[in-house]
Amino acid sequence: MYLSPLIIDFHVHPWTREFASRNNYFASILRLNGLTVKDLPPDTEELAHRISSSGVQKAVFLAQYADHRLNPGLKNFFFTSRDVAKIADRHSFVIPFGSINPNDGLDALVNLKKDIAELGLKGVCIFTSATSVYPSNKIMYLLYDLCIENSIPVIFHPAALDILHCSIKYDDPVHLDEIAKDFPELKIIIGHAGWPWTETAVAVAMRNDNVYIDIQPLEKDKQHAALVHFIKRTHGKRVLFGSNYPLLADYKPKHIESYFKKEFGSAVAEDILHNNAEELLSK
Ligand SMILES: [Zn+2]
Repeated sequence: MYLSPLIIDFHVHPWTREFASRNNYFASILRLNGLTVKDLPPDTEELAHRISSSGVQKAVFLAQYADHRLNPGLKNFFFTSRDVAKIADRHSFVIPFGSINPNDGLDALVNLKKDIAELGLKGVCIFTSATSVYPSNKIMYLLYDLCIENSIPVIFHPAALDILHCSIKYDDPVHLDEIAKDFPELKIIIGHAGWPWTETAVAVAMRNDNVYIDIQPLEKDKQHAALVHFIKRTHGKRVLFGSNYPLLADYKPKHIESYFKKEFGSAVAEDILHNNAEELLSK
């Protein structure tokens, strides 16, 4: 086993065979990414074991919410804040991020506030397309206040490729420019570097010091010039490593580390793989 003291994975989906069994449609998401349900760990214990035994130091586990009233194909497509917190209780390397369906209105916020206090959530992840909610939604504005009050970041998770049963227009990171300016104290992370709006995500991050992006190792054919430019220009200071587990084919810390070191040098690699995440989580 390769033991790296460096890597914090900022983007893990706690998908298991048990989770997949709740939603018939889920198998097609895996297929789009070259996986089958059998490739998933049977349960969250095995999931935690697979990640910790790989040598990753810490990992952000993302709760998720969809709105099946608006997107009927996404029934049971959720993994609650409480589910994620339960894994973190048993495994200290897990950093729990909650989630809400903003269409549940004020109740969602009241529950989230309670969960932050009681479950120790360290951040919130919002699936804007799966809940059909723009970042400028009025409940979202109250969510940002709650995040600032608790010094926790918010991740916006685009799902353009993975989730077909919803409209992707809500995920366009162009909407986040206004949010970043209205809430300068809010730490915003654009998941998957905002793919397929990577150029827009980079532009928003360039313009706003409170905006971060998370990335996987960039395959040659997907290596986006704007993203590489952003990393070089900012020395990777607002870039986080997020594997999108289980969708990163090569989940080996040794390979991940050598990729970033080779592409961007040791100091930038250490910031992307560890230091930026540590700083963000320590506030
Ligand atoms: Zn993801």
